[in-house]
Amino acid sequence: MITAPLLLEVQDLVTRYPVPRGIVGALARRPKEVAHAVEGVSFTVGAGEMLALVGESGCGKTTTAQTVMRLVDPVSGTVRFRGEDITHLRHRELRPLRRRMQLIYQDPYDSLDPRFRVRQTVEEPLLVHHLGSSHERSERVTRALERAGLAPADLFLDRFPHELSGGQRQRVAIATALVLEPELLVADEPVSMLDVSVRAEILTLLDSLRRSGLGILMITHDLSTAARFADRIAVMYLGRIVEEGPAQAVVQDPRHPYTRALITVVPKRDPRDRTTPEILKGEAPNPVHVPTGCRFHPRCPEVASGRARERGMEERCRGEDPMLRELAAGHEAACHLA
Ligand code: SF4
Repeated sequence: MITAPLLLEVQDLVTRYPVPRGIVGALARRPKEVAHAVEGVSFTVGAGEMLALVGESGCGKTTTAQTVMRLVDPVSGTVRFRGEDITHLRHRELRPLRRRMQLIYQDPYDSLDPRFRVRQTVEEPLLVHHLGSSHERSERVTRALERAGLAPADLFLDRFPHELSGGQRQRVAIATALVLEPELLVADEPVSMLDVSVRAEILTLLDSLRRSGLGILMITHDLSTAARFADRIAVMYLGRIVEEGPAQAVVQDPRHPYTRALITVVPKRDPRDRTTPEILKGEAPNPVHVPTGCRFHPRCPEVASGRARERGMEERCRGEDPMLRELAAGHEAACHLA
């Protein structure tokens, strides 16, 4: 059980995007539509804790991270950092906060400026925030690189991004976040663009940073990564968290049919494991037209197989939106059948 002080508290967060109608739609006076990217999401991240936000592409996990970082404005809900409500802080008021909350991007090939040497890239945030003398900045750059696993730093300081491997680039991106000595890292699919061989190294690095006291919100589509490294897992589907709990509980005793389906498609280590993958049927989620009732019902194996009807729940599944309920200590799911 995590008892560390809370860094981040997100409560009932709602983020929506207007959908462009185009010239034809405007002339035809089609009604304006919105994408319900995030719909009432709540979670916390403590110091020294890693929470993995898991879900398939388009489920709203990246928008959640961007809203938490205040790169996108929410429609409603609150984001608190160290107890302070930061939901409506203006750009200037957010500036000191940006040092304490850092984002690591998915693509280390895109996030580094090809014209900058490693030294310049990692020093840049210190210059932006007017921190330290030239000598202090140089020491902080060296420390951040070595903390990110690029040691001795002298070997890397004068290299350009094209002289680094994918894993080394991601380490430079992490050093660029660490140089400001943040308390919270938001890592958006930090290994999805990397070779399988270096993924474990980067995840182990994030794990060691968590152990040193940083809070980490990791966005990933990979449930096996979340199970291996996170303390807690929150599973998102179509803008909502549908299951949340301690990582081992969610993976070993999943309570939501969507989580169960995700687990069946994770590659098994044991070749004798003959679990049949549960391939979800139906359309991929569309956040503009969210189904009524349980948003998962058009694809839910419990409905498709008739098990929900046998238990007298099918009408409820189609008509009533289930809320998250605690089913075991700290383990919640949003399903009428759970
Ligand atoms: Fe499936 Fe019904 Fe549970 Fe939704 S509430 S996940 S449709 S069983």
